[in-house]
Amino acid sequence: MKSSSVIKLSKSSLKNNLKLIKKLSGKAKFSLVVKGNAYGHGIGKYVKMAEECGADHFSTFSYEEALSVKRNTKNNPAIMIMGYIDNNYVGDCIKKGFEFFVFDFYRLNRAILEAKKLNKKAKIHIEVETGLNRTGFHEKELEDLFKLLRDNSGYLEIKGLCTHYAGAESISNYYRIKKQIKRFKKYISSFESNEIYPEKYHTASSAGTIIYPKTRYNLVRIGILQYGGWPSIETYVYYLTNRKNKKNPLKPVLSWESSIMNIKNVRAGEYIGYGNHYLAQEDMKVASIPVGYTEGYSRVLGNQSQVIIKGEAVNVIGVINMNLLVVDVTSFDNINIGDKVTLIGREGDQAINFSSFSDKGKELNYEVLSRLPEKIPRKIVD
Ligand SMILES: *Cc1c(COP(=O)(O)O)cnc(C)c1O
Repeated sequence: MKSSSVIKLSKSSLKNNLKLIKKLSGKAKFSLVVKGNAYGHGIGKYVKMAEECGADHFSTFSYEEALSVKRNTKNNPAIMIMGYIDNNYVGDCIKKGFEFFVFDFYRLNRAILEAKKLNKKAKIHIEVETGLNRTGFHEKELEDLFKLLRDNSGYLEIKGLCTHYAGAESISNYYRIKKQIKRFKKYISSFESNEIYPEKYHTASSAGTIIYPKTRYNLVRIGILQYGGWPSIETYVYYLTNRKNKKNPLKPVLSWESSIMNIKNVRAGEYIGYGNHYLAQEDMKVASIPVGYTEGYSRVLGNQSQVIIKGEAVNVIGVINMNLLVVDVTSFDNINIGDKVTLIGREGDQAINFSSFSDKGKELNYEVLSRLPEKIPRKIVD
Protein backbone atom coordinates (compact mmCIF):
# COMPACT_ATOMS: atom_id res chain seq x y z
CA MET A 1 0.00 0.00 0.00
CA LYS A 2 1.48 3.32 -1.07
CA SER A 3 -0.58 5.40 1.35
CA SER A 4 -0.31 4.90 5.09
CA SER A 5 -4.02 4.12 5.47
CA VAL A 6 -7.14 3.39 3.46
CA ILE A 7 -10.82 4.27 3.93
CA LYS A 8 -13.30 1.59 2.91
CA LEU A 9 -16.91 2.36 1.99
CA SER A 10 -19.42 -0.41 2.57
CA LYS A 11 -22.06 -0.64 -0.11
CA SER A 12 -24.25 -3.03 1.89
CA SER A 13 -24.27 -0.62 4.86
CA LEU A 14 -25.32 2.22 2.60
CA LYS A 15 -28.12 0.10 1.14
CA ASN A 16 -29.26 -0.68 4.68
CA ASN A 17 -29.28 3.01 5.65
CA LEU A 18 -31.09 4.09 2.49
CA LYS A 19 -33.85 1.60 3.24
CA LEU A 20 -34.39 3.24 6.62
CA ILE A 21 -34.24 6.73 5.10
CA LYS A 22 -36.90 5.75 2.60
CA LYS A 23 -39.14 4.63 5.45
CA LEU A 24 -38.50 7.77 7.49
CA SER A 25 -39.10 10.05 4.51
CA GLY A 26 -42.63 8.77 4.06
CA LYS A 27 -44.13 10.21 0.89
CA ALA A 28 -41.32 12.75 0.48
CA LYS A 29 -38.47 12.27 -1.94
CA PHE A 30 -35.00 12.32 -0.38
CA SER A 31 -31.90 14.15 -1.51
CA LEU A 32 -28.53 12.91 -0.27
CA VAL A 33 -26.41 15.71 1.14
CA VAL A 34 -22.78 15.17 0.10
CA LYS A 35 -21.16 18.42 1.19
CA GLY A 36 -17.85 18.33 3.10
CA ASN A 37 -16.41 15.73 0.69
CA ALA A 38 -19.48 13.56 1.39
CA TYR A 39 -18.91 13.96 5.13
CA GLY A 40 -15.32 12.80 4.61
CA HIS A 41 -16.27 9.65 2.72
CA GLY A 42 -14.78 10.96 -0.54
CA ILE A 43 -17.38 12.55 -2.78
CA GLY A 44 -16.34 10.92 -6.09
CA LYS A 45 -16.38 7.26 -5.02
CA TYR A 46 -19.27 7.90 -2.66
CA VAL A 47 -21.76 9.30 -5.16
CA LYS A 48 -20.85 6.60 -7.66
CA MET A 49 -21.70 3.98 -5.04
CA ALA A 50 -24.84 5.83 -3.89
CA GLU A 51 -26.12 6.00 -7.45
CA GLU A 52 -25.60 2.26 -7.80
CA CYS A 53 -27.74 1.91 -4.65
CA GLY A 54 -30.55 3.86 -6.30
CA ALA A 55 -29.95 7.47 -5.25
CA ASP A 56 -31.01 10.02 -7.87
CA HIS A 57 -30.87 13.36 -6.03
CA PHE A 58 -27.78 14.94 -4.45
CA SER A 59 -27.24 18.16 -2.52
CA THR A 60 -23.90 19.92 -2.31
CA PHE A 61 -22.64 23.07 -0.67
CA SER A 62 -20.73 24.41 -3.67
CA TYR A 63 -20.53 24.49 -7.45
CA GLU A 64 -17.21 22.67 -7.26
CA GLU A 65 -18.83 19.78 -5.39
CA ALA A 66 -21.69 19.72 -7.88
CA LEU A 67 -19.11 19.20 -10.63
CA SER A 68 -17.69 16.20 -8.73
CA VAL A 69 -21.15 14.69 -8.45
CA LYS A 70 -21.74 15.16 -12.17
CA ARG A 71 -18.37 13.70 -13.13
CA ASN A 72 -18.86 10.62 -11.00
CA THR A 73 -22.45 9.69 -11.81
CA LYS A 74 -23.99 8.18 -14.92
CA ASN A 75 -27.75 8.56 -14.76
CA ASN A 76 -28.00 12.32 -14.69
CA PRO A 77 -29.19 12.71 -11.08
CA ALA A 78 -30.65 15.98 -9.82
CA ILE A 79 -27.87 18.08 -8.30
CA MET A 80 -28.82 20.88 -5.92
CA ILE A 81 -26.29 23.47 -4.73
CA MET A 82 -27.30 24.84 -1.34
CA GLY A 83 -24.52 27.37 -0.80
CA TYR A 84 -21.52 28.85 -2.53
CA ILE A 85 -21.34 29.73 -6.20
CA ASP A 86 -18.90 32.36 -7.42
CA ASN A 87 -20.92 34.93 -9.32
CA ASN A 88 -18.91 34.13 -12.46
CA TYR A 89 -20.11 30.53 -12.42
CA VAL A 90 -23.84 31.07 -12.08
CA GLY A 91 -24.08 30.81 -15.87
CA ASP A 92 -22.22 27.48 -15.85
CA CYS A 93 -24.65 26.15 -13.26
CA ILE A 94 -27.54 26.95 -15.57
CA LYS A 95 -25.75 25.49 -18.60
CA LYS A 96 -25.07 22.25 -16.74
CA GLY A 97 -28.62 22.02 -15.42
CA PHE A 98 -27.64 22.30 -11.75
CA GLU A 99 -30.38 23.41 -9.38
CA PHE A 100 -29.29 26.03 -6.89
CA PHE A 101 -30.47 27.98 -3.86
CA VAL A 102 -31.30 31.61 -4.42
CA PHE A 103 -31.30 33.45 -1.10
CA ASP A 104 -30.91 37.10 -2.12
CA PHE A 105 -31.46 39.51 -5.00
CA TYR A 106 -27.75 39.49 -5.85
CA ARG A 107 -27.89 35.87 -6.93
CA LEU A 108 -31.41 36.03 -8.34
CA ASN A 109 -30.57 38.93 -10.62
CA ARG A 110 -27.43 37.19 -11.80
CA ALA A 111 -29.41 33.99 -12.47
CA ILE A 112 -31.95 35.92 -14.56
CA LEU A 113 -29.21 37.72 -16.48
CA GLU A 114 -27.35 34.50 -17.30
CA ALA A 115 -30.54 32.61 -18.14
CA LYS A 116 -31.41 35.30 -20.66
CA LYS A 117 -27.93 35.14 -22.18
CA LEU A 118 -28.15 31.37 -22.51
CA ASN A 119 -31.82 31.34 -23.36
CA LYS A 120 -32.17 28.51 -20.85
CA LYS A 121 -34.22 28.46 -17.66
CA ALA A 122 -32.38 28.63 -14.35
CA LYS A 123 -33.54 25.92 -11.93
CA ILE A 124 -33.83 27.73 -8.64
CA HIS A 125 -34.81 26.96 -5.07
CA ILE A 126 -35.93 30.03 -3.20
CA GLU A 127 -34.62 30.05 0.32
CA VAL A 128 -36.58 32.06 2.84
CA GLU A 129 -35.67 33.43 6.26
CA THR A 130 -37.56 31.72 9.05
CA GLY A 131 -35.24 32.36 11.99
CA LEU A 132 -31.81 30.84 11.38
CA ASN A 133 -30.72 34.33 10.33
CA ARG A 134 -28.04 33.14 7.97
CA THR A 135 -29.34 33.27 4.39
CA GLY A 136 -32.78 33.64 2.85
CA PHE A 137 -35.34 36.21 1.68
CA HIS A 138 -37.17 38.08 4.40
CA GLU A 139 -40.94 38.53 4.43
CA LYS A 140 -40.44 42.22 3.72
CA GLU A 141 -38.72 41.35 0.45
CA LEU A 142 -41.51 39.15 -0.87
CA GLU A 143 -43.30 41.80 -2.88
CA ASP A 144 -40.17 42.67 -4.88
CA LEU A 145 -39.33 38.99 -5.14
CA PHE A 146 -42.73 38.06 -6.55
CA LYS A 147 -42.51 40.82 -9.12
CA LEU A 148 -39.10 39.63 -10.33
CA LEU A 149 -40.28 36.03 -10.47
CA ARG A 150 -43.38 36.97 -12.45
CA ASP A 151 -41.57 39.30 -14.86
CA ASN A 152 -38.96 36.63 -15.60
CA SER A 153 -41.06 33.50 -15.48
CA GLY A 154 -39.76 32.57 -18.95
CA TYR A 155 -36.24 32.27 -17.56
CA LEU A 156 -36.87 30.65 -14.22
CA GLU A 157 -37.97 27.20 -13.22
CA ILE A 158 -38.96 27.38 -9.56
CA LYS A 159 -37.88 23.95 -8.36
CA GLY A 160 -38.33 24.65 -4.70
CA LEU A 161 -39.18 26.83 -1.73
CA CYS A 162 -36.98 26.03 1.26
CA THR A 163 -35.54 26.95 4.61
CA HIS A 164 -33.17 25.43 7.16
CA TYR A 165 -33.78 24.94 10.89
CA ALA A 166 -31.56 26.24 13.64
CA GLY A 167 -30.69 22.89 15.22
CA ALA A 168 -33.61 20.46 15.01
CA GLU A 169 -31.39 17.78 16.59
CA SER A 170 -31.62 19.37 20.02
CA ILE A 171 -34.82 19.59 22.07
CA SER A 172 -33.50 22.78 23.68
CA ASN A 173 -34.23 24.49 20.35
CA TYR A 174 -37.85 23.28 20.33
CA TYR A 175 -39.55 26.70 20.54
CA ARG A 176 -37.25 28.26 18.00
CA ILE A 177 -37.90 25.42 15.52
CA LYS A 178 -41.67 25.56 16.12
CA LYS A 179 -41.59 29.25 15.31
CA GLN A 180 -39.66 28.56 12.13
CA ILE A 181 -42.16 25.90 11.07
CA LYS A 182 -45.00 28.37 11.52
CA ARG A 183 -43.22 31.09 9.58
CA PHE A 184 -42.48 28.70 6.72
CA LYS A 185 -46.19 27.90 6.45
CA LYS A 186 -46.88 31.59 6.05
CA TYR A 187 -44.42 31.77 3.19
CA ILE A 188 -46.19 28.89 1.46
CA SER A 189 -49.50 30.75 1.68
CA SER A 190 -47.93 33.95 0.34
CA PHE A 191 -46.45 32.12 -2.61
CA GLU A 192 -49.68 30.32 -3.40
CA SER A 193 -51.85 33.38 -3.07
CA ASN A 194 -49.53 35.05 -5.57
CA GLU A 195 -49.97 32.08 -7.85
CA ILE A 196 -46.37 31.00 -7.64
CA TYR A 197 -46.17 27.25 -7.17
CA PRO A 198 -42.71 25.84 -6.43
CA GLU A 199 -42.33 22.20 -7.40
CA LYS A 200 -40.95 21.14 -4.01
CA TYR A 201 -41.17 22.41 -0.46
CA HIS A 202 -38.19 21.34 1.62
CA THR A 203 -37.04 22.18 5.12
CA ALA A 204 -36.02 18.98 6.92
CA SER A 205 -32.54 17.57 7.41
CA SER A 206 -31.99 14.19 9.12
CA ALA A 207 -33.12 15.48 12.53
CA GLY A 208 -36.14 17.33 11.17
CA THR A 209 -37.22 14.23 9.28
CA ILE A 210 -37.21 12.17 12.48
CA ILE A 211 -38.39 14.63 15.11
CA TYR A 212 -40.77 16.89 13.15
CA PRO A 213 -42.29 14.64 10.45
CA LYS A 214 -44.65 17.40 9.28
CA THR A 215 -41.61 19.34 8.05
CA ARG A 216 -40.88 16.72 5.41
CA TYR A 217 -43.27 18.19 2.82
CA ASN A 218 -42.31 16.57 -0.50
CA LEU A 219 -38.50 16.62 -0.24
CA VAL A 220 -36.07 16.02 2.63
CA ARG A 221 -32.34 16.74 2.67
CA ILE A 222 -30.59 13.82 4.35
CA GLY A 223 -26.96 14.06 5.42
CA ILE A 224 -25.61 12.18 8.42
CA LEU A 225 -28.15 9.31 8.47
CA GLN A 226 -27.02 7.90 5.11
CA TYR A 227 -23.48 7.53 6.46
CA GLY A 228 -24.79 5.60 9.46
CA GLY A 229 -24.67 8.32 12.11
CA TRP A 230 -27.29 10.15 14.16
CA PRO A 231 -27.49 13.94 14.23
CA SER A 232 -27.29 13.76 18.05
CA ILE A 233 -27.82 11.27 20.88
CA GLU A 234 -31.18 12.96 21.50
CA THR A 235 -32.32 12.16 17.97
CA TYR A 236 -31.32 8.52 18.39
CA VAL A 237 -33.13 8.23 21.72
CA TYR A 238 -36.19 9.92 20.22
CA TYR A 239 -36.17 7.44 17.35
CA LEU A 240 -35.91 4.46 19.73
CA THR A 241 -38.67 5.55 22.12
CA ASN A 242 -41.29 4.97 19.45
CA ARG A 243 -40.08 1.47 18.52
CA LYS A 244 -40.37 -2.02 19.92
CA ASN A 245 -37.01 -3.04 18.49
CA LYS A 246 -34.36 -1.13 20.45
CA LYS A 247 -31.49 -1.93 18.11
CA ASN A 248 -29.64 0.76 16.19
CA PRO A 249 -30.95 0.33 12.62
CA LEU A 250 -28.09 2.29 11.04
CA LYS A 251 -24.80 0.81 9.89
CA PRO A 252 -21.63 2.86 9.51
CA VAL A 253 -20.58 3.05 5.87
CA LEU A 254 -17.00 4.03 6.55
CA SER A 255 -14.13 2.02 7.99
CA TRP A 256 -10.51 3.06 8.21
CA GLU A 257 -7.48 0.80 8.19
CA SER A 258 -3.74 1.15 8.50
CA SER A 259 -0.90 -1.19 9.42
CA ILE A 260 1.92 -1.49 11.94
CA MET A 261 5.02 0.43 10.88
CA ASN A 262 7.34 -0.36 13.77
CA ILE A 263 7.44 -2.43 16.98
CA LYS A 264 9.68 -1.90 19.98
CA ASN A 265 10.15 -2.87 23.59
CA VAL A 266 10.15 -0.25 26.32
CA ARG A 267 11.42 -0.70 29.87
CA ALA A 268 9.27 0.06 32.91
CA GLY A 269 9.89 3.63 34.09
CA GLU A 270 10.41 5.09 30.62
CA TYR A 271 8.12 7.71 29.09
CA ILE A 272 6.66 6.93 25.67
CA GLY A 273 6.29 9.59 22.99
CA TYR A 274 6.51 13.37 23.44
CA GLY A 275 6.62 14.87 26.91
CA ASN A 276 5.40 12.98 29.92
CA HIS A 277 1.93 11.94 28.85
CA TYR A 278 2.52 8.21 29.14
CA LEU A 279 4.78 6.41 31.60
CA ALA A 280 5.46 2.68 31.11
CA GLN A 281 4.57 1.08 34.43
CA GLU A 282 5.84 -2.33 33.34
CA ASP A 283 8.02 -3.63 30.54
CA MET A 284 5.98 -2.98 27.40
CA LYS A 285 5.82 -3.69 23.72
CA VAL A 286 4.52 -0.78 21.62
CA ALA A 287 3.68 -0.38 17.94
CA SER A 288 3.76 2.77 15.83
CA ILE A 289 0.94 3.34 13.35
CA PRO A 290 1.58 5.83 10.52
CA VAL A 291 -1.55 7.91 11.12
CA GLY A 292 -1.74 11.18 13.04
CA TYR A 293 -3.63 14.42 13.14
CA THR A 294 -2.57 15.26 9.56
CA GLU A 295 -4.57 12.21 8.55
CA GLY A 296 -7.57 13.44 10.54
CA TYR A 297 -6.98 11.42 13.71
CA SER A 298 -7.81 14.05 16.31
CA ARG A 299 -5.21 15.06 18.88
CA VAL A 300 -7.98 14.98 21.46
CA LEU A 301 -7.86 11.17 21.28
CA GLY A 302 -4.35 10.85 22.75
CA ASN A 303 -4.39 8.38 25.71
CA GLN A 304 -8.16 7.99 25.06
CA SER A 305 -9.01 5.87 22.06
CA GLN A 306 -8.42 2.33 20.93
CA VAL A 307 -7.63 0.53 17.70
CA ILE A 308 -8.33 -3.09 16.77
CA ILE A 309 -5.47 -5.47 16.00
CA LYS A 310 -6.07 -9.19 15.34
CA GLY A 311 -9.61 -8.84 16.67
CA GLU A 312 -8.52 -7.27 19.96
CA ALA A 313 -9.06 -3.71 21.12
CA VAL A 314 -5.78 -2.11 22.20
CA ASN A 315 -5.10 1.29 23.76
CA VAL A 316 -3.63 4.29 22.05
CA ILE A 317 -0.94 5.64 24.39
CA GLY A 318 0.59 9.09 24.66
CA VAL A 319 -0.21 12.02 22.42
CA ILE A 320 -1.27 11.81 18.77
CA ASN A 321 1.58 13.07 16.59
CA MET A 322 1.46 14.77 13.24
CA ASN A 323 1.75 11.48 11.33
CA LEU A 324 1.98 8.81 14.02
CA LEU A 325 0.19 7.25 16.89
CA VAL A 326 1.48 4.62 19.30
CA VAL A 327 -0.47 1.65 20.69
CA ASP A 328 0.16 -0.85 23.46
CA VAL A 329 0.71 -4.35 22.02
CA THR A 330 2.29 -5.90 25.11
CA SER A 331 -0.35 -8.64 25.23
CA PHE A 332 0.52 -10.06 21.79
CA ASP A 333 3.09 -12.86 21.44
CA ASN A 334 2.97 -12.93 17.71
CA ILE A 335 2.77 -9.50 16.13
CA ASN A 336 4.56 -8.18 13.08
CA ILE A 337 5.31 -5.11 11.05
CA GLY A 338 2.60 -4.80 8.37
CA ASP A 339 -0.16 -6.36 10.50
CA LYS A 340 -3.53 -4.78 9.89
CA VAL A 341 -4.80 -2.07 12.25
CA THR A 342 -8.44 -1.01 12.27
CA LEU A 343 -8.80 2.62 13.34
CA ILE A 344 -12.54 2.78 12.65
CA GLY A 345 -14.57 -0.31 11.87
CA ARG A 346 -15.36 -3.81 13.02
CA GLU A 347 -13.34 -6.99 13.50
CA GLY A 348 -15.19 -9.92 15.03
CA ASP A 349 -16.89 -8.76 18.25
CA GLN A 350 -14.86 -5.58 18.44
CA ALA A 351 -16.15 -2.40 16.87
CA ILE A 352 -14.91 1.17 16.88
CA ASN A 353 -17.53 3.55 15.56
CA PHE A 354 -16.74 7.10 14.50
CA SER A 355 -19.35 8.23 16.99
CA SER A 356 -17.17 6.94 19.84
CA PHE A 357 -14.50 9.38 18.62
CA SER A 358 -16.94 12.23 18.77
CA ASP A 359 -18.11 11.22 22.26
CA LYS A 360 -14.55 11.03 23.61
CA GLY A 361 -13.47 14.27 21.99
CA LYS A 362 -16.78 16.09 22.65
CA GLU A 363 -16.96 16.73 18.93
CA LEU A 364 -19.77 16.26 16.47
CA ASN A 365 -20.02 13.20 14.23
CA TYR A 366 -19.99 15.77 11.44
CA GLU A 367 -16.59 17.13 12.48
CA VAL A 368 -14.89 13.79 12.99
CA LEU A 369 -15.94 12.59 9.54
CA SER A 370 -15.51 15.68 7.41
CA ARG A 371 -11.98 16.16 8.74
CA LEU A 372 -10.75 12.95 7.09
CA PRO A 373 -8.43 14.28 4.40
CA GLU A 374 -9.01 13.86 0.70
CA LYS A 375 -5.58 12.34 0.15
CA ILE A 376 -6.45 9.08 1.92
CA PRO A 377 -7.55 6.61 -0.80
CA ARG A 378 -11.17 5.42 -0.67
CA LYS A 379 -12.18 1.94 -1.70
CA ILE A 380 -15.69 0.63 -2.25
CA VAL A 381 -16.29 -2.78 -0.67
CA ASP A 382 -19.43 -4.86 -0.38
C1 LIG B 1 -25.96 19.83 5.95
C2 LIG B 1 -27.30 20.19 5.58
C3 LIG B 1 -28.33 19.25 5.61
C4 LIG B 1 -28.14 17.82 6.10
O1 LIG B 1 -27.98 17.79 7.49
P1 LIG B 1 -27.93 16.41 8.28
O2 LIG B 1 -28.09 16.80 9.70
O3 LIG B 1 -26.56 15.83 8.04
O4 LIG B 1 -29.00 15.55 7.77
C5 LIG B 1 -29.58 19.65 5.17
N1 LIG B 1 -29.82 20.91 4.74
C6 LIG B 1 -28.84 21.84 4.71
C7 LIG B 1 -29.16 23.22 4.22
C8 LIG B 1 -27.56 21.52 5.13
O5 LIG B 1 -26.61 22.45 5.10
